[in-house]
Amino acid sequence: MTHHTLRRVLPPLSLSLGLLTASCGSRLLCRMPVAGEQLPFNLMHHALSLRLDPSAHTVELSDSLRFNGTFTRFELNAGLELTRLEVGGRQVPLKRLVVKPGEDRGPATRTTYLLACRLPQTGLAVIEAKGNLWQDPEQVRFGHETVGNELMATVGAEGAWLAPEAAILPDVGEGELVPHRVHADLPADWSLITDGRLVRDWVSGDRHLMSWEESLPGGPLSIVAGPYDIRREMVDGVEVSTWFFRRDPAAGPVMGISGPVDDEEVRATLHRMSAYYLKMYRDWLGPYPYSKFAVVESFFPSGYGMPGWTLLGSQVVRMPYIPYTSLGHELLHNYWGNGVYVQAELGNWCEGLTVYGSDYRYKALESPAAAREYRKGVLKDYRSYVDGSKDISLREFQNRHDGATRAIGYGKSMYVFHMLAQLMGSEALDAVQREMYLSWSGRAASWDDWLAACERKGQLDLARFKAQWLDREGAPALRLEELDWTNGRLQGRLLQSQGGAPYELDVPLLIECHDGTVMHERLQVDRDTLFIDLPCPEPRRVAVDPDFDLFRLLDGREMEPVVGMVLAEERPLFLAPRAWLDDATRREALLAFSSALKDLKDAEWQALEDFKASTLKQRSVVVVNAPGLIDGLEASDLRMGEDRWRIAGVEGQRAERSLVLAVKSSTNDRKGALLFYVPGPEALPALARKVPHYGKYSYLAFDSSGVNQAKGNLSPRGNPLERRFGGW
Ligand SMILES: [Zn+2]
Repeated sequence: MTHHTLRRVLPPLSLSLGLLTASCGSRLLCRMPVAGEQLPFNLMHHALSLRLDPSAHTVELSDSLRFNGTFTRFELNAGLELTRLEVGGRQVPLKRLVVKPGEDRGPATRTTYLLACRLPQTGLAVIEAKGNLWQDPEQVRFGHETVGNELMATVGAEGAWLAPEAAILPDVGEGELVPHRVHADLPADWSLITDGRLVRDWVSGDRHLMSWEESLPGGPLSIVAGPYDIRREMVDGVEVSTWFFRRDPAAGPVMGISGPVDDEEVRATLHRMSAYYLKMYRDWLGPYPYSKFAVVESFFPSGYGMPGWTLLGSQVVRMPYIPYTSLGHELLHNYWGNGVYVQAELGNWCEGLTVYGSDYRYKALESPAAAREYRKGVLKDYRSYVDGSKDISLREFQNRHDGATRAIGYGKSMYVFHMLAQLMGSEALDAVQREMYLSWSGRAASWDDWLAACERKGQLDLARFKAQWLDREGAPALRLEELDWTNGRLQGRLLQSQGGAPYELDVPLLIECHDGTVMHERLQVDRDTLFIDLPCPEPRRVAVDPDFDLFRLLDGREMEPVVGMVLAEERPLFLAPRAWLDDATRREALLAFSSALKDLKDAEWQALEDFKASTLKQRSVVVVNAPGLIDGLEASDLRMGEDRWRIAGVEGQRAERSLVLAVKSSTNDRKGALLFYVPGPEALPALARKVPHYGKYSYLAFDSSGVNQAKGNLSPRGNPLERRFGGW
């Protein structure tokens, strides 16, 4: 799922006044602050007026800040020119300011302005600025795997987006969260949305004027504007709305992943499901904290969650699964992240808890089997995307930027809450969530605050839990050895093989017996080796953690080959028949394919005829149109004929259907091949776009227009955490 959030993750407190070097004169009310001196400053309120002119790409702004204390500095987007500054009713000559250019962060680069003297403290500063802001929306990368070149500040005919990092709203530092008002002056057919409640909305001549107000502490602000068609409805006192771009009916319907999309139906589903989640979370956690929940289409690929609204790209917002997954996830972020903030320097807990309460919870509500599959998927991701070098502890996680950080900051983090629910009971954990929401709303909580609340509620000592799951990177790896049943006793050893200090674990053990008895044991493990000695009737099957209740490193043999395993390779080797590489048109299609699939400008291609199986010992490969399997792979049930293929009961004509298949290396179970069998090069662009979204599957089939028709998983071979006994 492509999603990423912008929320109030508070930066570490930094109050740098800088070294002031400008001379200040010796006027009575003007005293030079001493370098490093911390002058008291408290922001109270922002009132921002913004005028947007899309055709000229211009922004004009005026911000009135109310404050207590001494106003000494602010930051503003470097693309804007400061035109006026007034502090305490007095105009400050702009040449008196010390201007420090920020470090180059593209459109998010900020300029710092320092007031070289102390001014009277009447509590109001007015900052005016203007400038041209434009970025090409085509350059954005926002995918399941990578997030890059994000838009920061742009105004154009397609719409306007002003990200908080871009400091369009002057930033006075200190991570201040304050109430605000935003007054927008827009073309008549445009609308603007930001945090808060719409308090004024009228058209004057050829301009649309809107005012948004938030009386709760908030910010930094995200602002979006464009030619929107807006639908609103009230649900228990909360305004649910959808903001879709107005479209020319003559242009025909928007194309989704599987053909034309009926926008009426999409919006009706978004409204219905938003109402459903509002009720679910209100009943579960407490009252929804904002006055609105708006789903807003963006003109660039995105998946952001803001207080009371979410911004989704045109294609994403129309994907059929969004109302059943991401929509609820984003709505829940209004509790976790935007309701209770995150003290980021101690680790970002809010993604894991939000996954636990949305994506994972929806699976748990569906069935225990679906929840188990979801957990296993998380463990597969961790094993695929995180190898030692990419591992970080949950303390170090702040935001996802690739598959590894997603597997940790979302997946492992979700597991921490699942394991807490196992330890204390899910009702007790629910009570902790309600209590945290009630007592921490509007404040930044840390992992430690969460665990302290769990310790109190569950009467637990979580010191070791914290040390091994939050402070330590990695995961335990379990192995079952020498398991035997004699004289009515099951005996054997359970090993922790990850190396380093052993984990303290409560390991589920399932024993199914020939007489129909099913035993659910729990093994308390806190050292490298645990001797198992249990009385039981003759067993048929013994399995360690069969439902994946523990966060652990899966054994390679517990894992079937999956697409994500190969895509996790930073620089896979690409292979194609020599005839393809020698043909100019096909070669061009192949190069475009590798750069789209893996975002590699200089992918390495090799002719299949030159391939050596030993490569698969240390490197995964992506293969286009091999005649069958390649050397160096595990056995597979793939049947590849002249004109047909067949795997796991799915089949297709080679000339019509594309097959994508993951197969493990026979020499290294972390490496493998991703085999593409396509009718021709014209099938490749759609596959490069879509296949990364199907990382947890072993095989995929697509029709000639790139619509997915089948997906599935092959069975893993030889699970070492399971033992089947003979007998009858
Ligand atoms: Zn999230």
